Amino acid sequence: MAAEVVIVGGGVSGVTTGIVLQLLGYQTRLLCQHWIGDTLNATRPDSCEPRFASQYAAASVIPHSAAITDESWHLHASLRLFEVLRSRGDAGVRTQRHYEIFEWPQLVASYAEAMPGYHVLPVNGKGEPGVPRRADGVPVYGWSFQAYFADMPRYCEFLSGLYCRLGGKLEKTGFCDVDTLMAIRASVIVNCGGAWGRTLWGDACSSRYVRGILVRAHAGDIPRNQTTGEICSYNYHPAVSVYCRSRGRPADVYFYPRSDGWILGGTRLESTELSGSEASDVRPVWQGETWRGPVVRLPLEGSEDRVELAVPEPILTLNRELIRRLTGVDVNDIRLTAAEGFRHQRQTVRLESETQHGRSVMHNYGHGGAGITLSWSCAIKVAELVCDHVGACADLRHIETQVRAGLA
Ligand SMILES: Cc1cc2nc3c(=O)[nH]c(=O)nc-3n(C[C@H](O)[C@H](O)[C@H](O)COP(=O)(O)OP(=O)(O)OC[C@H]3O[C@@H](n4cnc5c(N)ncnc54)[C@H](O)[C@@H]3O)c2cc1C
Repeated sequence: MAAEVVIVGGGVSGVTTGIVLQLLGYQTRLLCQHWIGDTLNATRPDSCEPRFASQYAAASVIPHSAAITDESWHLHASLRLFEVLRSRGDAGVRTQRHYEIFEWPQLVASYAEAMPGYHVLPVNGKGEPGVPRRADGVPVYGWSFQAYFADMPRYCEFLSGLYCRLGGKLEKTGFCDVDTLMAIRASVIVNCGGAWGRTLWGDACSSRYVRGILVRAHAGDIPRNQTTGEICSYNYHPAVSVYCRSRGRPADVYFYPRSDGWILGGTRLESTELSGSEASDVRPVWQGETWRGPVVRLPLEGSEDRVELAVPEPILTLNRELIRRLTGVDVNDIRLTAAEGFRHQRQTVRLESETQHGRSVMHNYGHGGAGITLSWSCAIKVAELVCDHVGACADLRHIETQVRAGLA
């Protein structure tokens, strides 16, 4: 098959789309300013760019924080693909017991029943041994399951290596404008531009940015739950009197241990716009919701000099207590750094094709806080659009089967 496809975007969406298309026999070129195979680096000013979202995911495979058409198909396809990656053993994907905990009674989320090992906590709020709880006697409600987890440093290395081994052509072009892209000869252009995706050809649909401030504890080993012996993670929603967003809306903290440290989240502060240059040579300025409570200042990861980031204090105090009770380790004994990343959340994920100046452009962006979770299913949807465009007959099931066989 001779059709050449140009992909704009070197984050998880771009590289996964590239892998899927390469596995189907297309020749792809991937153009990007940022590349997931690169690490945060103090000598490269764009390397701690908060809009390059793939750099900040932990990443759990849980379908929350994004709206998408055919949600159930995406969830099941995603679970099937991540199971193939987990079984390989070299992709940096594992499963771990994940707890979604609330200090008030909560309806179980619609996705939860589909998750392997799904289990609901007692409705009396008493919890169970091994469940995260910030203090004795605090009621806990919620559920747990075996979550797929992409250990991002290892997973990004796996994806970038696989794309290149499959013959994909990586071109670190810097920021391309529309004229440059339109001058390229290719059957199709796929827009996996993340937060920049809407700026290329415009977008009538509304979207927003959700700011995540994170702490990394530079710990060596991955800890175990001292009661169950399992590797585990959590999203914990304390009472709003303990930690909340503006106007008293509930906030959560989270914990994901990884090979390069333990990720302690976080914030979900919202804004409809950012200021700063699109080409990302200047750090954008946050213009939206802010945290008004006490902060702790920690060194900003990947920055030169001694730039510090103000981290809401509850991210540290709550996680510290939860982790200490869960694992017996005090994160205050470990070196801590901070980072901030912006989730680009469109009203619904954009997965469609359109014609621009006589050229076919396919869009794959706006995944909010679930872009890793949705990366394989969205790439398969894009592949279906590309197959339709070039007149190759292939439905979603057929494409998914080929991709799973290629990844196994
Ligand atoms: C704090 C935080 C925590 C998260 N946690 C999770 C999680 O646990 N699980 C999960 O599933 N998701 C999570 N996410 C969401 C996930 O990280 C994103 O949805 C996902 O990484 C988006 O990937 P992307 O490839 O679409 O965009 P990006 O990673 O932002 O990549 C966009 C790419 O496009 C390139 N680009 C754009 N325009 C141009 C242009 N004109 N020319 C050249 N290059 C261009 C950029 O250089 C970049 O390479 C989290 C996000 C944040 C911020």
